Amino acid sequence: MAFTRALSGTGLVAAACASWQIGPAATWLPVVRRATPCLAGRGYPDRVALTFDDGPSSRTWRLLDTLAELDVQATFFMVGEYLERNRLIGEAVAKSGHEIAVHGWRHRYLLGQGVRRVSAELARARDLVADVSGSPPRWFRPPYGVLTGSALVAAARVGLQPILWTAWARDWVDQVTASEVLATLTPGLRGGATVVLHEPPPGAPPSRGQATLAALPELVAHLRVQGLTPGPLRDHGLNGRGSLGFRGNLR
Ligand SMILES: [Zn+2]
Repeated sequence: MAFTRALSGTGLVAAACASWQIGPAATWLPVVRRATPCLAGRGYPDRVALTFDDGPSSRTWRLLDTLAELDVQATFFMVGEYLERNRLIGEAVAKSGHEIAVHGWRHRYLLGQGVRRVSAELARARDLVADVSGSPPRWFRPPYGVLTGSALVAAARVGLQPILWTAWARDWVDQVTASEVLATLTPGLRGGATVVLHEPPPGAPPSRGQATLAALPELVAHLRVQGLTPGPLRDHGLNGRGSLGFRGNLR
């Protein structure tokens, strides 16, 4: 009996630990993100934040050219180890007026990693971004958008604000077309949205990222016709640093 009680107590502790690690990962789900508008990146109703994950790589140059042609600035969530290898590209992104944010040091799930380890990796990425861009980054988006309890604590420790997205395009899928990217995005293109798009990471197949580039002119035109201004997260009116923003911050 006592053994059974001890076992069930151990099980409860294990369950509590599991929910501490995994519970925040539910923020990946659209229904949870709708309840946490600041975490999802819901900002000013006349703006849409454009964000690009998974760079930088040599193919970031084409994205920079496309954004310059469209006269649009964005937020680049960069992976620390990629930025370390492509520092000049990071500097060019910053010099072009774009915002650089943290997408982890390595592109891997954070599940099962403790606060100390995640903090060290985020601090390393934060310091590199600050050095490359000339200003400390504000935002952290976890790889795959999966937050953990450890990641939330670590982000607060190193002064980064976790943020996900309100609309995505599934543009990381091989052979996706620009039309499919736009069709997936369009229902979420409302004022205040934060859009996540992707750069091809180093070593990705040549076809990866083509649809994103091809979709950008129509995406930006679509937003402007609706009276929405695309831009980086820093101009999106998101306050409540370090908070999940359950109360929201809509203007
Ligand atoms: Zn990613």
